[in-house]
Amino acid sequence: MNEGEQNAARRQLVVFDFDWTMIECNSDTEVVFKFCADKEISKKRLQEAAATRSWTRGMDEELKAISELDVKSKDIQDFLATIPIEAELLRFVEEAAQAGIDLRVLSDANSFFIEGVLQSKGLLGCFSRIVTNPVTLQGERIVVSPFHQDEHPEGSSSPPNLCKGRVMKDWISEREWHSVVYCGDGEGDYEGVNALPKEGTALVRKDWGLHRRLVRAEEEGIAVPRVVVWEDQRDLAASLFKFL
Ligand SMILES: [Mg+2]
Repeated sequence: MNEGEQNAARRQLVVFDFDWTMIECNSDTEVVFKFCADKEISKKRLQEAAATRSWTRGMDEELKAISELDVKSKDIQDFLATIPIEAELLRFVEEAAQAGIDLRVLSDANSFFIEGVLQSKGLLGCFSRIVTNPVTLQGERIVVSPFHQDEHPEGSSSPPNLCKGRVMKDWISEREWHSVVYCGDGEGDYEGVNALPKEGTALVRKDWGLHRRLVRAEEEGIAVPRVVVWEDQRDLAASLFKFL
């Protein structure tokens, strides 16, 4: 790679949602269902939290209940290490970081879970930023708080804990980017995708919430960025390699 190519790589930004995009599960429910006392009860409580848009608070309460069962943070960390990242996606992250592409995570999960998974694969150092709900440890108890504590700007339909549109706008305004890519699957990624500059690309999980929302927006005549669909992480990795 010559110097010009290296400079271009440094001006490339690739943003990953985490659950169901970087990994093939929801890290929140994966951890809760592994360690909780009663899966059905926890499931019901989390469904209620989702319905009232208070998922982060609901997760914090589940983590509190888990710590009361004498589950140690190390037990959770060991479990996170067993969550796989698809081999081709892992290879993309390593090679992209090596090439100087700016990789970031923007996720509704939490810092403990995301860092736990990435660290166990040796990938943590590949990401320049991880924006998610922050975790503090109170003894063995994992305490998760919302990332955004203030009101979202008018027009935002994001859950109160995190507006991905807001974060993406800040990141995009940091500098002039050669290209910006956003990888996501759920409705919660819609505002992040919408913040993409016109030269941006959305890598969108086929037929999932984000895709359906983008199709609907297009039908309503709303301008959407360039969309490339993917069906699984291997497919996502193949699309990403085209940006290397
Ligand atoms: Mg997701």
